[in-house]
Amino acid sequence: MSSAFDNLFDLVIRNVRLEEDGALVDIAVRDGLIAAIAPRLRCDTVTNFDGKESFAFTGFVDTHVHLDKACILDRCSICEGTLAEAVRETARAKSGFTEDDVYERAARVVEKAISHGTVRMRTFVEIDPRAGLRSFEAIKRIKADYAFATDIEICAFAQDGLTNEPETFDMLDAALADGADLIGGCPYTDPAPEAHIASIFELAVKHGVAVDFHLDFSLDPDKTDLPAVIEATKHHGWQGRVSIGHVTNLSALPEASVIEIAKNLADAGIALTVLPATDLFLNGRTHDRLVPRGVASAHVLAAHGVVTSVATNNVLNPFTPYGDASLIRMANLYANVAQLSRDADIVAVFDMVGSSAARQLGVPHGITVGKKATIILVEAAGPKAAVREIGRIVAGWKSGRQSFHNGEPRLNKPHRQCEDPNQAITCVTELGDPV
Ligand SMILES: [Zn+2]
Repeated sequence: MSSAFDNLFDLVIRNVRLEEDGALVDIAVRDGLIAAIAPRLRCDTVTNFDGKESFAFTGFVDTHVHLDKACILDRCSICEGTLAEAVRETARAKSGFTEDDVYERAARVVEKAISHGTVRMRTFVEIDPRAGLRSFEAIKRIKADYAFATDIEICAFAQDGLTNEPETFDMLDAALADGADLIGGCPYTDPAPEAHIASIFELAVKHGVAVDFHLDFSLDPDKTDLPAVIEATKHHGWQGRVSIGHVTNLSALPEASVIEIAKNLADAGIALTVLPATDLFLNGRTHDRLVPRGVASAHVLAAHGVVTSVATNNVLNPFTPYGDASLIRMANLYANVAQLSRDADIVAVFDMVGSSAARQLGVPHGITVGKKATIILVEAAGPKAAVREIGRIVAGWKSGRQSFHNGEPRLNKPHRQCEDPNQAITCVTELGDPV
């Protein structure tokens, strides 16, 4: 039985689709939650928003981004374009980072990400003798200041090794006691990768947090720390709480071997993030033609049960001297590089920046009555069209509050000369549209 309050809403987002070419529905919001979903809702409401047949979903989830070292091209030089150079140049630059400097650069990226429909980000923050805790303090402020639009989780990250700089361990420990949400390691920059992995798990277990490793960033399948990570994950019972990023050496393996590894990853509950922009830029630098792509086959891993995501990684620094923090653009880049064409694969790639990425971070995703009204509108017929066309992001709400609107695109078509000056009011454009 309905009451007089059933049709009282704070907001109704009208004329949107929830699936590819689906029927148009209205989404009603009350007290920050989705209160109803139905075609042509009749109701008393404070605000109506015309979605103009756009696709509505919960928003993009960036599982892997480095806000602290974004936008530093002006203070780095890139001569080789290699991973070693990127690590070296960035380590040099970060000694000069100040808290306000990190805040300003991170804010620039977060604001772009919000306008591109990103509602959650996992950012790595380097904590070591060069960065101190300055970047961490800045990103904590960023997390608080932009919580109106996007949820940021902070990964305290040992980019430059652990066993070679033991003081980093205590700094990470301090950060985890002071607001960091999880711990991240990078075995390939440590002279003792297995000891590095053990130390990261020691901190994870002590603080009860998830783990995220940068792993196997080369084209050599024999150079791998993956077995050690799988072993440690199982040993500590950390299944479902471990992510690995890059793993570019999978791109050098035949598909049968990738499928074998996929089964092991799925069994260990380890999620994998592919970072196409960085992987493409840094790999294969010794080749002067037929350059290997160095991008792991996320769609093959996903088809064999691995939770996978595609993410931003770096923006405008020696690891990736491009970027706009747009995940729909990154999904399109991945699909293009992976030579995908089938509809099912394209939809899977959309999930890698949406529902599958959310699953990796352990957060809910989906437009459902009774759940938070976090909604992003994309100018597309659905997920497939959004990836193929890099659908324009229209507007977004977090918990029922509008967090951004990108405005209406307008073509300013030229007027055709009128033959009869008295008929000016019936002028048409050169394309025949009435003025
Ligand atoms: Zn990274």
